[in-house]
Amino acid sequence: MLKYSIKGSRLIVIFIFTAIISGSILTYLSINHISNYRELLEKKISEEERDLSNRFSSGFKNNLDSISSRFRYYLEEKDLSVLQKLKIRDSIKEGGNYIEIDRNGSFLLPNFPDNEGLITNIESSKIYLERLHLAENNEFNVSDFEKANSYYLSALEVATSKTDSVHIYNSMARLYVKMDLQQKAFDAYQTILTEFRSTVNSSGFPYAYFSVIKLLQISNPSNFEELRTLLTSFLEELADGTIPLNDSSLELMDLIEEWREKNQNQLNNEIFKDLIDRNKNSLLIINNYKIQLKNILRQHNNEVEDSLTNDVLRIKPILDSNGELMLFFEKQPISGGLVLRLEPLFMDVLEKLQFDNLKFEYELNLVDKIETNYLANTNIISTSEFSPYFENNLVQIALKNENIIDENVLKKQLTYGIGLFIFLGTMVLGLYLLIQDVNREKRMNKLRADFVSNVTHELKTPLTSINMFAEAMNLSEETLDSKQKKYASIIVKESEKLKRMINNILEFSKKENDKLSYKLKRSNITGIVNSTLKEMDYFLEINKIEVNRNIEENIYAAVYDEGLKQALSNLISNGIKYSSENKKMNVQLFKKDGNIFIEVEDYGIGIPKDKLDLIFDKFYRVNLNATTSGTGLGLTVSRDIIEEQHGKLLVESTLGKGSKFTIILNIA
Ligand code: ADP
Repeated sequence: MLKYSIKGSRLIVIFIFTAIISGSILTYLSINHISNYRELLEKKISEEERDLSNRFSSGFKNNLDSISSRFRYYLEEKDLSVLQKLKIRDSIKEGGNYIEIDRNGSFLLPNFPDNEGLITNIESSKIYLERLHLAENNEFNVSDFEKANSYYLSALEVATSKTDSVHIYNSMARLYVKMDLQQKAFDAYQTILTEFRSTVNSSGFPYAYFSVIKLLQISNPSNFEELRTLLTSFLEELADGTIPLNDSSLELMDLIEEWREKNQNQLNNEIFKDLIDRNKNSLLIINNYKIQLKNILRQHNNEVEDSLTNDVLRIKPILDSNGELMLFFEKQPISGGLVLRLEPLFMDVLEKLQFDNLKFEYELNLVDKIETNYLANTNIISTSEFSPYFENNLVQIALKNENIIDENVLKKQLTYGIGLFIFLGTMVLGLYLLIQDVNREKRMNKLRADFVSNVTHELKTPLTSINMFAEAMNLSEETLDSKQKKYASIIVKESEKLKRMINNILEFSKKENDKLSYKLKRSNITGIVNSTLKEMDYFLEINKIEVNRNIEENIYAAVYDEGLKQALSNLISNGIKYSSENKKMNVQLFKKDGNIFIEVEDYGIGIPKDKLDLIFDKFYRVNLNATTSGTGLGLTVSRDIIEEQHGKLLVESTLGKGSKFTIILNIA
């Protein structure tokens, strides 16, 4: 029983120990792994951002290349529908401003001819000049406006060129203003604007511009609506190139805007603003690229940024306007360019960008290098250059969900936490079941031992009676004959043997139940040895064992005499059981070095060397097939009894030659 509980608790201790060790290792590994995991995620993110940045840069380059080549195709084919497609398909509608330029560097689209280019030197007729002179003389020197008016009208009749006609209309309008004929003046300026759109004066200045300035000056609420229509078509014609843009266009548009703003209540026309913006934008392109393009056409390519394989040049604007780039294709006699704006280009590349094979989701933004308020590189944001043409711009790649690292780490922590919890839970459950098992085993053992002890007790009572009565029969001399006496003494001896066996079992179950405790008392060991031998006489005799006794007299020690007797009779009984041909036995009792030695030596079958330690184990028998009966408890009980009395039971044996068992007791 004691052994069982020790084994049980040892198992539990081992179990707890294993649980603690493996739990600690697991905890350590999880903590370690979680802290590494954060670093790993950060590394992964910066790798993916780098990868995305590369993808974006090459996507951007490819986009530019593809637009370049299609633009080139358009210019070669002169196919307007391709340009349309180019703008629509590449989603660069807002970004694509198309220009055309002639050999001299004049912008044909947006229309911006050099002033000199407009001057035509058609000579006026003599009669026209005479009448004009008379009209101007009457207007400026005589101040006879009526006469002047009729001379102007007669000059108009003989005018041979548009320039002459428009000159007269202009003079008449001026005269009407002086004569306070506002409506007539308005009509004359209107005629110039509608019929002589592109006619210029001797310095190349378009009369249309001039008339607009005048119309703005003389306008009044009664003709606001009329003027608004006139100005709208003027601005439309500027935008579509019918009326050329020139260096004065901007000033003129400012005047129109000023007039519009002043009269906003009467005129609420958004179209105005759009047209003005469009024209201003065209002027901006011209200003930004004018010098570079002229240089290109003069074959001075120094300022050209880059020359591509497909003859399309990429030119940055001369003014530092970020986010703009021109693709320019030089071709005789007319060259063309396409101004691209960065933002639509960026959006377009973004749309086509492959976001596959990425663990996380990212957001791409355009940032200005010069503006310093963008976020610097961190472990979740990376900022990099993406194109040499937009060196002032950077692409910034950031995690869409900036808490994703924390969330992932938390998820990992939860997984490990649950894992650990399950592990510990299983361990606790295991421990609980183990304790249950051990307890059940303990209970079962106790039940078994109790059962054995009860049964043996029950057996012992009738056996004692049998023994007692047989002995009584043996002692009564009158009634029994010699044969009957012999039988009675056999019954006595055999019942004693049975009693010894039962005692062995009882002692054993006591020991198992941890109830072995002896009261030692000083006894005569010589007496105990002699009486035991005497009890065994019968068995020695019937087995024809010759016992050589060497027993010292008067040896005393504190022992449990019943126990010692039982142990000794077990040893003698074994000597008989495992005897061989050589039927001899030595039994000795002597004192030596303060100890008492009781030796039982036989010349029987002996015990193999490797089994010498095992024979004292409970139920162990060397040769289970042997015919010799036994329980395997005799030596176990004997050693327990001796050791309980602070003694020792030793064995020496040679296989085939015999064995010697020695009980060593202290002299107390
Ligand atoms: P049992 O004799 O009932 O089998 P024991 O505990 O007395 O049980 O002995 C255990 C085993 O030791 C025996 O089965 C036997 O094989 C061996 N043994 C004990 N005493 C001797 C002996 N004197 N000579 C040879 N073998 C022995």
